[in-house]
Formats: sequence, structure tokens, C-alpha cells
Amino acid sequence: MKSTMNAKRMLETTQTKLPSYLERLEALVRVESPSEDPAAVNAAQERVAGWAGELEGKVKRHRQKKFGDVYEIRFGSRRSKQRPILILGHLDTVWPHGTLKTMPWRSQEGKIFGPGVLDMKAGVMMALTAVEVLHDMGMERPVTLLLNSEEEVGSPVSRPITERLAKESSAVFVLEPAQVLALKTARKGIANYRVEITGVASHSGVDFERGHSAVLELARQIERISGFTDLSRGLTVNCGVIAGGTRSNVIAAEACTEVDVRIARAGDAARVDRLFQRLKPFDPACRLTVTGGVNRPPMERKPGTAVLFKQAKRIAAELGFALDEASTGGGSDGNFTAALGVPTLDGMGAVGAGAHAAHEHIVAEHIVPRTALLAAMLATVE
Ligand SMILES: [Zn+2]
Repeated sequence: MKSTMNAKRMLETTQTKLPSYLERLEALVRVESPSEDPAAVNAAQERVAGWAGELEGKVKRHRQKKFGDVYEIRFGSRRSKQRPILILGHLDTVWPHGTLKTMPWRSQEGKIFGPGVLDMKAGVMMALTAVEVLHDMGMERPVTLLLNSEEEVGSPVSRPITERLAKESSAVFVLEPAQVLALKTARKGIANYRVEITGVASHSGVDFERGHSAVLELARQIERISGFTDLSRGLTVNCGVIAGGTRSNVIAAEACTEVDVRIARAGDAARVDRLFQRLKPFDPACRLTVTGGVNRPPMERKPGTAVLFKQAKRIAAELGFALDEASTGGGSDGNFTAALGVPTLDGMGAVGAGAHAAHEHIVAEHIVPRTALLAAMLATVE
């Protein structure tokens, strides 16, 4: 990608792939694949594995019980001394079976709608097309495409596979949607906690003094927990769900809250966890239990990632578009790989809007340039 001629050729080759890209993307979106249904997710995985086979991709299926299988697909020469680039995708979606009825695949005014199209079936197909473009242009480099089956529920089984593959790779590209038009070079980490209070029940009229209200205790704890928020450090704590009590004339025996914590700085993860583990009841007659912990560590913008982004920005300019970087409070599988110190560029997938929402769509005009960017990055990153 030294000359603009190459960029032009890359764009032209990618452009020829657009009709088959769209055809396959439609087929893939029509295979509904909610995280909770292993067989459905496997059906989507099999589609992609079949297409990868046409590009001489070697498929390794990591079998799972509770979730769909995790597919590791290797492209390029086995004899190459070059370290692979790891591309992270997932084929599970947040959408239950039957969503296609209310949110059908449709193309309208340059937008393509459908469940999971943006998050992230379009991205997965972009990666496959980028590999095909390299193949056509006679460029070989080892690429590992890892397709997870349970990203939308926190990647419980694929995480160790992701981490193992990241350690042998020179860089990681994540196929999550772009942040509007920008790549994501930093993401907050996520921790989830459940705080349960057990109080002492009694009749609020007859035996008021004997009761110890779990609801009152929880209210005090929520004040304290919410105080862990430190906006100057990008640390936010949200008690998003509360439950407790049975009737207004009963001093509540039980109450609980579910808490979502977002952490920008790696150093804050352990500190916040300690704050939760050390919570003590205000009323000693109440019992407090904390479960949960850090799910995804923060993806900090490290020097290796900054270098990768600079390269992407330069290539995008050659391809004819401007590229920015952004940070987000949402997590992805890129959090795991960045935390290991492997340069990670996220948001390399489709451009669109409405992930997890009824208006989920991709913007068609960005498919070719973004796929060409992906191909050029695969070709040029060491
Ligand atoms: Zn996603």
C-alpha cells in the first residue's frame, strides 16, 4: 500500500465483491441466532465456515454445551514466518427468534435493516471479503478469524480462546461497528455486582420495633454505592435494578440491587472491586452479601494501538476517506486482548446505527471503503 495505485486497485477489487457480499449477508441475517440458542448460533457459524472453506480457511470448532460452538478459522500460508493478525467477530445476536417478522431484512434509501446486521453480521462478512480480496491480489498473510457464539452475554466460554489466540498474534482487529465513523481505540471496562440484604421481618403495626428493614438498609447502601462514581476518572456506578419487600405493612426481610460499573482506568478495577467486597451493613441486624465482579477489564489506549490507528488513518486517506478515533463506555472482546498488551483496533466493522434497537441498520456506501481498509490493514500490518 505504498502507492495510491495500490489503494485504487484494492478499492476496485473490493467493489467487484459487493454483489456476493450482499447476497451472503442477507442469507446470514436470515439465520436468526440469539445467544441463548446454541443450535441456531451454530447454523450461522456453519454458513460462514462454508464460505471460509472456499477461501481455503481451516476451521477448528471449539465445541460448547451451554452456548453455540466457537469457530477458529485460519487463513494464509501455514509456513509463513509472519505472526497472524487476529480478527474477532461474533455471530450471536441479542434478537430472539421471530424478530425477522417485525424487523425484516430490507434495503431502503442506502440503509440495510435487519436483526444483527450491524452487530455484527455485516462486520463478519467484511472480514471474509477482505480475506478474499487479499487472496485475489496474491497477497498471503496468516489471519485468524475467531467467531464467538456468546459475546452478547459477556463471552464466558470464548474468553480463554480469544486470549490464547491474541497472545500469538501481532495485532487484533475487532469487527464491532464503528463509533459513528470512527474506530475505537479505548473502551471502558465493565463490572457487575448484585448486593443482597437480608433484614428481619415483622408486622409494621404490631411489632414495628422488632423489625429490621432490608429495604431501608438497601436504600442506604445505594447512596453509598452510587458515591463510588468518580466522573473525573471515568468511573461510573449505576444501581440499575432494585427489588425488595412484599407488602406495605411488612417490614421487609429481603432486598437487592443489581449494579453496573464502568471503569476507564485499568488501575481502578481492583480498587472498585475492593470497595464492593468491603461493604458492611449500616444496621448490624441486617446481613449483606455481594456477588459478581469485573467482567471486562478496561481497554486503555496504549502506544501499540495508537501506532495501529495512525496506520489505519493513513491508509483510509489513500482510499479516499477521513478516519477518526473514539473511546466508548461499552465493552467488547477487544477489552480482553488490549488488557494483555496486544495492539487492538476496535470498530473495524460496519458503519450504521441502532445496535440492539429496532432501527438497527448499516449504511451501504461504507461497505466497500471499510472492507478495503480492512484488507489493506491485513496486507500491511507486520
Ligand atoms: Zn457486537
